[in-house]
Amino acid sequence: MNYQDILNEIHEEIQPYLKLGKVASYIPELANVPYEKFGMSLHTVDGKTHSVGNAYENFSIQSISKLFTLTLAKQLVGEKLWARVGREPSGNPFNSLVQLEYENGIPRNPFINAGALVITDVLISNFDNPKDKILDFIRLLSGNKDINYDPDVALSENKTGYLNKALANFLKSFKNLDNEPEQVLDVYFNQCSLAMNCCDLANSCIFLANDGRSHHFDEVITTEKQTKYINSILLTCGTYDSVGDFAYRVGLPGKSGVGGGIVAVMPDKFSICVWSPGLNESGNSLAGTKALELFTTMTGISVF
Ligand code: GLN
Repeated sequence: MNYQDILNEIHEEIQPYLKLGKVASYIPELANVPYEKFGMSLHTVDGKTHSVGNAYENFSIQSISKLFTLTLAKQLVGEKLWARVGREPSGNPFNSLVQLEYENGIPRNPFINAGALVITDVLISNFDNPKDKILDFIRLLSGNKDINYDPDVALSENKTGYLNKALANFLKSFKNLDNEPEQVLDVYFNQCSLAMNCCDLANSCIFLANDGRSHHFDEVITTEKQTKYINSILLTCGTYDSVGDFAYRVGLPGKSGVGGGIVAVMPDKFSICVWSPGLNESGNSLAGTKALELFTTMTGISVF
């Protein structure tokens, strides 16, 4: 399989789709990102990398961070986590408040905002300096020590993040946050602000395709069982209320963010990241989803 040729072909075919999505503007700092950016990076379990377009340009990973914080929280508290957050698709927008009320403050899954706030709360309770721990973990997974938070993006979201503030306070009222909402929101806005590129992200996710093993160090990140658990939640909850459409078209476990990035993994074969800032109505990259659909169709490789 010539992966590089396939990526080059996708890069050409995707051009008309780049202008069809809408760049996120509810976080003012993200509104400035040019819609025509497009990058893609593939990492294979045997250690090869193929990239195309703006694959080495940093963008805001936003909700892709929820995949890393879930991995950390699962390592810390194991199955006890599921007393505080579910693992079913929500069928609602990622920032919805209503479901949380009639489900008594237990978020449907760790990838919607309410669920991710609970996960961040777990990290705050277990680490003296959760922001440093999250950053160390991502630097370790990616093998890139230069990765950092983007304070302008974090501040921009903090200034305008009324809905996330409402969610955090609502969770607290249901006693599903152990720490103060302000503290949880501060860590959450920072984790979402992480600036990474497609290559870093594909690299960071290779453990999910490689039975829990990274390419950068010997230690196992997740056991085979944990890896299966995380990939299953990615498949069923990773792309919000269009998770069914994503599974139908792409056929891989994946996680998106409103910065326009999507990571996806094919167990035993590869991890892949695509970036295109224009989003569809569910908040997933429109051209990014199309590019992944082209990739799994052209290669004939998906989990199905
Ligand atoms: N920081 C964003 C928010 O909370 C992340 C959402 C996303 O990427 N889907 O709204």
